[in-house]
Amino acid sequence: MPATSRRLQAFTESVIRAMTRLSNQHGAINLSQGFPDFNPPEEILAALERATRGPFHQYAVTWGAPRFRQALAKKITHFSGTPVDPDQNLVVTCGSTEAMMCAMMTCCEPGDKVIVFSPFYENYAADAILSGAEPIYVPLRPPHFGFDPDELARAFAQGAKAIIVCNPSNPTGKVFTRAELQTILDLAEKHDAFVITDEPYEHIVYAPHEHVYMHTLPGAADRVIVCNSLSKTYSITGWRLGYVQAAPHIIAQARKVHDFLTVGAAAPLQEAAVAGLELPDSYYHGLRDLYTAKRDVFLNHLRATGLPFTEPHGAYYVLMDISSLGFPTDTEAAEWFVKEVGVAGVPGSSFFREPEHRFIRFHYAKQVETLNAAGEKLLRVKQGR
Ligand code: GLN
Repeated sequence: MPATSRRLQAFTESVIRAMTRLSNQHGAINLSQGFPDFNPPEEILAALERATRGPFHQYAVTWGAPRFRQALAKKITHFSGTPVDPDQNLVVTCGSTEAMMCAMMTCCEPGDKVIVFSPFYENYAADAILSGAEPIYVPLRPPHFGFDPDELARAFAQGAKAIIVCNPSNPTGKVFTRAELQTILDLAEKHDAFVITDEPYEHIVYAPHEHVYMHTLPGAADRVIVCNSLSKTYSITGWRLGYVQAAPHIIAQARKVHDFLTVGAAAPLQEAAVAGLELPDSYYHGLRDLYTAKRDVFLNHLRATGLPFTEPHGAYYVLMDISSLGFPTDTEAAEWFVKEVGVAGVPGSSFFREPEHRFIRFHYAKQVETLNAAGEKLLRVKQGR
């Protein structure tokens, strides 16, 4: 029998998506895979209806429909304050997931080392391995998830070709400060490495914290590759719209990877999403307020359980410390939460390189009624196992 690729033995299927399946099977409230249970803005839905009747049913330009790229470049320029050229700096992808894979394949030779902070969003290690690279891990230590600059310097000194920075961070809710990002960039410059950022939660940041666009820092232009998506900003995770943003010589290569991987993102959805990209600033303020309110509601429910948890500064994930419940592993705990509590989360160990079984990750991108129902069920933990 011919053997399948050895690369695939180095990682498992996504635990996040497996938890969604388990949750559906048991009818639990699904706070595992991070996606909203509410609709995108009305403007986007109306534009989608219009797009279905328009000439958008064949391939778009492989690196993105011109109208979409123009609206996207304008929006990024507006928020980051750095000019983005729709024809030179962007490749439109199928979500940030493809953007990340595309960025890795653009940067890495087989055998290259890529620094990944741990805990990390589970795709990164798989992406590194699929692109032929080898991940090296640098811990972000709870409870504040800071990194040790000397430890990071030693990782770069091993000959890293790139580092991945998820900001705001999934699963920790960490928002990297300007000083931290500059430290990372200085090390990348010193060791001539790429910085690949993943920023889908750019607009979900809680005051007084602020999102700093790493590509705007001095020295970033030739080494920062931004991966981003419209999924979270416009509540359209199923549309799979994302992008790679970088210097023209990098984009010229990334276009080739993207072209042969997927040809392109869905044409009618690119057309419809322009309506989202053109929304006024008030939309983004509203989004931040909406998620601030959801965070407050959900954290209050977690407080009522008596179990400790991390307080997110950005994104919409919380790591709850379930060690006092005494489960041998977090995977068993997560199964118990689905079956006995009726709320699904993701075992924290799927985000950590270290043998860390203390946490379950919940997300709160849900309607307040859903969060309240989950909160009531979560009180079950007060009775213990
Ligand atoms: N980013 C989301 C999460 O971490 C969704 C992951 C996915 O399935 N693409 O849950």
